[in-house]
Amino acid sequence: MKNDVVIPFLTLYIKIYRFENNKEGIPMRINRFPKILAFVLLSLFFLPELTPSQKIGWKTVEDRAVQLFQDYLAINTCNPPGDVAAAAEFFSAIFEKEGVPVELIWTNKNTGRVNVLARLKGSGKKRPLMLLNHMDTVPVDRSGWSVDPHAALKKDGYIYGRGALDMKNFGIVQFMTMLLLKKNNIALDRDVIFLAVADEETTGTLGSAWIVRNRWEDIDAEFVLDEGGFGTQGFFTKDKRLIFSVGVAEKKVLWLKLSTSGPSGHGSMPLKENANFIMVQALSRVASHVTPIHITPPVAEMIKRLGKLADTPYNNALQRNTISLTVTKGFVGDPPKSNVIPGKAEAVLDCRLLPDQDQNEFVLKLREVINEPRIKFDYIERPIESIVSSYDTELFRIIEKETRAVFPDSVTVPHLIIYGTDSRFYRRKGAHCYGFFPGPVTMEEYKTIHGNDERIREKSLRTAVRIYYNVVKSFCETKK
Ligand SMILES: [Zn+2]
Repeated sequence: MKNDVVIPFLTLYIKIYRFENNKEGIPMRINRFPKILAFVLLSLFFLPELTPSQKIGWKTVEDRAVQLFQDYLAINTCNPPGDVAAAAEFFSAIFEKEGVPVELIWTNKNTGRVNVLARLKGSGKKRPLMLLNHMDTVPVDRSGWSVDPHAALKKDGYIYGRGALDMKNFGIVQFMTMLLLKKNNIALDRDVIFLAVADEETTGTLGSAWIVRNRWEDIDAEFVLDEGGFGTQGFFTKDKRLIFSVGVAEKKVLWLKLSTSGPSGHGSMPLKENANFIMVQALSRVASHVTPIHITPPVAEMIKRLGKLADTPYNNALQRNTISLTVTKGFVGDPPKSNVIPGKAEAVLDCRLLPDQDQNEFVLKLREVINEPRIKFDYIERPIESIVSSYDTELFRIIEKETRAVFPDSVTVPHLIIYGTDSRFYRRKGAHCYGFFPGPVTMEEYKTIHGNDERIREKSLRTAVRIYYNVVKSFCETKK
């Protein structure tokens, strides 16, 4: 806080000093001595406060972060099978070496399901901040990759590998933040907890869901920093503004199975009823149904800060409930028999609801649209309550401030995540959860998440290490 006042003052003083010295032919006046004296005294007085942040050799820190990132990225944690034991041991070995108390929480030894919990103690004046990341990744389709997805290769300014953006990059910047807080002996007003979990890419059962059920009492974080936000250009708006989105809520997942039946028979003799025709007609009504636009508070705030959103599939999904037809099945035999009318037809709809929408009303409306009593509805996945984290908080403002300090022209916005993250478990426990990565990612790079040639710009990772540390330090450091 004091630095905010002192640094501009000293800068101003230096400017005046230089200005006076630049006047040609004017000898040094006696009345300048008190000013110089004040300068020296002030500098000495504030020196201890100015030095810690200046002491960090960022080049060395960033080099180390890049090296650790490559080591971590090269550990194959594809899920399935989802074995993260080697990744957990990677974190815990370094934590132990650097004196950060760490615990491995095994949830299934046979399948390598383990979670890493490390903690830097604060004074307890405030409740903890938790840095959350998942160690598992989605699998790879090796044929679509131009490089080895598990070699953590550096090429053309990028680092390639499955998990480079989802979310081993987050894992490493959080890890570096912990190591730096420890190394610099930063006094904290609240505990800073690092939690790396297993199983996020499937159901979270042996990762975050387990932690929330069994260990929440000793975590009890007031705030959680998780995945779900990047710095992007041309993603939300047509212009090239750099926009940092901070995930504050997510859409609800509703998977519906539709099924119907009819008489089966020989394809040569059509019957009046055919399960496939019933299903196809029902689905065609779903296809032409347009769900209404509905602006939720985080999206309203985005629009307020950004103006009109570009017309893209992503922005469309931000503003309405969506329905995707993901599975259809209506045949007999494997391979399917072309000459048999099947007695059953099935389809799956992947529906994503806005946080404030009622699932029963949504399904009722869908029944109305389909308007076919012969179609049966079953739930595969029912939505759970979706909570919106407040963005009127000190942490949100610090994120904004520290990001702007590096990218002065950027805009920070609260954001509704259209897919699911582990934050949903912690929001239900009352924690404010933000999805935030302070590094720029282009559209082209973003598309590699869960896709081929997943990669991060090395520069983006380096910047993120610095901003992330500054955010956590500024938020948790003991205030004098
Ligand atoms: Zn993820």
